[in-house]
Amino acid sequence: MKIICIGRNYVPHVQELKNEIPEEPVFFLKPDSALLRNNDPFYIPDWTHEVHHEIELVIKINRLGKNIDKRFAHRYFDEIGLGIDFTARDVQQKLKEKGLPWEKAKAFDQSAVISSTFLDKAVFPDPEAIRFKLDINGKTAQEGNSEMMMFGFEEIIAHVSKYITLKIGDLIYTGTPAGVSAVKIGDRLEGYLEDKKLLDFLIK
Ligand code: ZN
Repeated sequence: MKIICIGRNYVPHVQELKNEIPEEPVFFLKPDSALLRNNDPFYIPDWTHEVHHEIELVIKINRLGKNIDKRFAHRYFDEIGLGIDFTARDVQQKLKEKGLPWEKAKAFDQSAVISSTFLDKAVFPDPEAIRFKLDINGKTAQEGNSEMMMFGFEEIIAHVSKYITLKIGDLIYTGTPAGVSAVKIGDRLEGYLEDKKLLDFLIK
């Protein structure tokens, strides 16, 4: 399986990082070795001083598809989970300045936190407005709602599948709302999808 991440999908987050508003979805990949499951602790690597949390809605692809039309894209996922796209922002900043790829800052081990539980699309009261948030040490750090995404799930699937075949089990992280900041040793991160707590783990 592969992990596809969408960047710059919430305007306030694009603005907080002083990036340009994209005209089409921006995406990048993480390897399966980046996954951090079962609420295992996250260990800050020794080569970065600034690992940012990015809480994101994650969709799980349930059928093989290439060049998927936006009208049919809803058929390619049934479940939504919660993830964190950990980003070594100091490293990423240097790579961006040099115009180099972001992998070192984005694809490292443990950089893709994923909830053990995914929720069926059918359980959401409003599938167009899915709420999620990240609390750090009991205080809300990031709050999002899928209706704030510039590119919705269907648009993302259509766009990405133009270039990359989607396979069963692939995960798509759909972008983070504003409020990203560095985690530190001892922090407790709790992620909520609607009112369900799906993530609860420590930074070490
Ligand atoms: Zn992200």
